Amino acid sequence: MPPPDPSNPYAAPAPATDDGPRKKKKKGRYSARLDGDALVVANAKHAPLFPEVCMKCGAHEGILRRKVQFRWRPVWARFLVFCIIGLVILVVTTRRANLEIPLCASCNERWSAARNAGIAGIVVLVAALIAVRSTGAGRAELGGLFALVAAFVALAYVFIRPRVLPVKRIDDAEISLRGVHPRAAEEIVAASE
Ligand SMILES: [Zn+2]
Repeated sequence: MPPPDPSNPYAAPAPATDDGPRKKKKKGRYSARLDGDALVVANAKHAPLFPEVCMKCGAHEGILRRKVQFRWRPVWARFLVFCIIGLVILVVTTRRANLEIPLCASCNERWSAARNAGIAGIVVLVAALIAVRSTGAGRAELGGLFALVAAFVALAYVFIRPRVLPVKRIDDAEISLRGVHPRAAEEIVAASE
């Protein structure tokens, strides 16, 4: 990028690309560390600005920022999904963290494909559940429903999880993400405080 023209007051200030990610942390301070296979980011609520590295493949070219709301619930709460009070508890116990994830264009597309597949899967599941409830749950219907749930779990593990950053845990202070490329995790930790 050429240096800004001093005679042009409308020129954008030059971004601090040469100094690496350390210069940028003022905007979104965070602290990060590695915990086994997970990248743990503290202070995630203050919009941490991660360095320009694709968190899925470690590439440095053509990085864009994807706004993602990560959600996590305690494991015990997930089993309550089948009753109404359980749904309420699920909503109350859900922890959220909003992050801007640096991704290269192709990893961003893969992420979108995973999200679309997840939405489609949930729509199919809910439609099947409504159909079974309205037509009466015979053995065949319940069997079909069970097969659909199994297919959805398989979809989640085989197709969705490898394309996103699965949440290990979210609490008031930290978010732990799995599936971060090792080089990206290293650079994110190095650029943190
Ligand atoms: Zn990538």
